[in-house]
Amino acid sequence: MVALNILDHIYDAVIIGGGPAGFTTGLYTSRAGLRVLLIEGVTTISQITVTDLIENYPGIPDGINGFELIERFKKQAVQFGLKTVSADVSAIAKIHWGDVEGWKVTAGDKTFETLAVIVATGAYWKKLGVPGEDTYAGRGVSYCATCDGPFYRNKDVVVVGGGDTAVQEAIFLTNFASKVNIVHRRDRLRATKILQNRAFANSKIAFVWNAVVEEILGGDVVERVRIRDATSSARTKEITADGIFVFIGLIPQTDVLRGIADLNNGGYIVVDANMQTSAKGIFACGDCIHKRLRQVVTACGDGATAAFSAQLYVEELKGEAY
Ligand SMILES: Cc1cc2nc3c(=O)[nH]c(=O)nc-3n(C[C@H](O)[C@H](O)[C@H](O)COP(=O)(O)OP(=O)(O)OC[C@H]3O[C@@H](n4cnc5c(N)ncnc54)[C@H](O)[C@@H]3O)c2cc1C
Repeated sequence: MVALNILDHIYDAVIIGGGPAGFTTGLYTSRAGLRVLLIEGVTTISQITVTDLIENYPGIPDGINGFELIERFKKQAVQFGLKTVSADVSAIAKIHWGDVEGWKVTAGDKTFETLAVIVATGAYWKKLGVPGEDTYAGRGVSYCATCDGPFYRNKDVVVVGGGDTAVQEAIFLTNFASKVNIVHRRDRLRATKILQNRAFANSKIAFVWNAVVEEILGGDVVERVRIRDATSSARTKEITADGIFVFIGLIPQTDVLRGIADLNNGGYIVVDANMQTSAKGIFACGDCIHKRLRQVVTACGDGATAAFSAQLYVEELKGEAY
């Protein structure tokens, strides 16, 4: 058991990440009466804020804009006393107060001491890694249809990818673009059937199967994309495009835990069913963990579980367990 006066200046839990997982964790821990701080990134954002329409989050039959959904998550958590700060966490290190063990979280020029850490840092989109991608970033290359789609009114765009995000965003882009070419490295989509059906029925969408992007070309801005036939390394062709939107997968944002807790080969955090990592007192939830389905609803579910596990952990440490 810990002498309570030692802990007066220490947070019960520090949550890293201001996405659906982080704010759900914030809601549950604050509502449970824990002293909690949530650190929102400044150089990164929640992925969901870049999508225009979420129509698979239960209880919102008309769908909702991603930015608005996050604002609602935040408002609800703050109502229960959650404190938030904007900073990028650069390090987590073990700390001792006498025989009590906790964690020190460094964010910008500040450090925060806490009994438990909940990592909800999500994931970020992968880049193609081809010539022209960095050169034309912001001048035709985009990773966010909601942010940049309106710039492509009556223009031709290419969407790269074949999963849910690529197809959903391609459909969204037809609100502006005159033509959307979906370039996919396989001969069929991975997206859910309902999205596939909508895309196939959309006269503005065309498909370029078995194709990989080799280079993005243009003058001041993107003008065309060179693609290679994935079945024959020799065959290439160019597609005219004013913009190229890349949705080819995710990279977990888990560097802060490297060397502290177990990560899998892909860099995702390994947790048990209670969202406990291999490091005592550190929990993780949402898109940054090793799991099958990365969606808002699963991020929220993980967040609630992580919050409850952290609550039990802190109560046990303080000798307050029921
Ligand atoms: C274009 C697009 C469309 C999508 N559409 C849907 C959809 O229709 N339905 C659906 O259910 N899901 C959708 N998703 C997936 C959904 O966005 C994610 O599953 C969800 O956002 C995961 O929540 P999260 O809280 O785990 O991570 P994120 O939402 O990614 O949030 C991570 C948070 O961690 C912060 N962070 C990262 N590193 C640090 C650091 N070092 N220090 C401090 N903070 C940090 C970030 O700033 C961010 O606030 C979509 C994703 C994309 C990209």
